[in-house]
Amino acid sequence: MLNSEKIKVFKIELENRRDKIKENLKVTTQEINGLNSNEVKDEADYASISIDRAVDNAILLQQTQELKEIESALNKINENIYGICEMCEEEIDIKRLELKIFAKYCIVCREIIEKEASVSNKRTPLF
Ligand SMILES: [Zn+2]
Repeated sequence: MLNSEKIKVFKIELENRRDKIKENLKVTTQEINGLNSNEVKDEADYASISIDRAVDNAILLQQTQELKEIESALNKINENIYGICEMCEEEIDIKRLELKIFAKYCIVCREIIEKEASVSNKRTPLF
């Protein structure tokens, strides 16, 4: 059962993660901007910079996504709907929230969504 004490703990955890990601994003963005302004000496340099940049961009994308999830979870805490499944409106199991703090769906709905996703991706199986 999700009580207000537990929600407080989740909120602190979410805020800590948000601040950490924001800091990471700032550093990564600065690195990317730094690379853009540096002069590239030769082709080999350019190749390694391109790879680094692609990795940075992937990290950036992933962290931006996570930041969005965290902020939406924090909004839910403010609106007192944190820990409620977005599909069936049942409470999400607390153990699940501990594993995935910004989980949107309960385990049952999650499975339904994953099944539907794998059906629509039949031609390109993930596994
Ligand atoms: Zn559900």
